[in-house]
Amino acid sequence: MGVFQKFCEWGTDSKYVSPSRKCDVCGGKLGFLETGFWSINAKQLSDAVLCSHCYEKLERLAEYRTACIKPALRKEPPFKGFTVKAIPQLSLETAKEILETSVRCGEEELSVYGSEYTSLFRMRKAVFIYPTALQVGVVRQKRLNGKLVVFGFVQLGQFQKGDEVLIVDGEERRKAAVLEAYVFDCEENDLEVNLKANMGKHRLSCWQTGWLVLDSTEALNTDVTVIC
Ligand SMILES: [Zn+2]
Repeated sequence: MGVFQKFCEWGTDSKYVSPSRKCDVCGGKLGFLETGFWSINAKQLSDAVLCSHCYEKLERLAEYRTACIKPALRKEPPFKGFTVKAIPQLSLETAKEILETSVRCGEEELSVYGSEYTSLFRMRKAVFIYPTALQVGVVRQKRLNGKLVVFGFVQLGQFQKGDEVLIVDGEERRKAAVLEAYVFDCEENDLEVNLKANMGKHRLSCWQTGWLVLDSTEALNTDVTVIC
């Protein structure tokens, strides 16, 4: 079967979404739904179609919930059975509620720390780094050695190199600066790869997952929230 025939077959498939159909959550553009071998721009819930961006938001939140070291510290109310695997079974109503609750809770949480704070980073894990001069160069090695790196996603706002941030560690508050920031884009040795590459795009935007290298050498007591 030629490529053209295959394409026509998709055209009549129920998994095909017409170009005029929009994301049920944000109204953004859609493409095809995910097929076994060609995934483009759209994902399905039980009764709705979402753009990949909205779907990713749900994935980030579900990952955060399941990976959090201390579930009691999660600020949002629990949504029963909300895991990455279960997202395709969600109804549109529940998905919207989860996303709206996340933004509302994030804003409420930030308001406690003062109006100057507009960005919220949710940590999933943290490590200290000890790169060698061979890996990152002498200057960066001195700057980065023994520093705290948090991995997670940006729930509100954005984070970039040079930002002064507040680390909210249970009852403790510590100030720190963002030394470097990396968008997470590969599974294996991601931090190491990013540190070596140092591509200079030191910014994490809203809902992106990634690493923040912080100017801090103190260990964490809890799952932290980083705000700026
Ligand atoms: Zn959308």
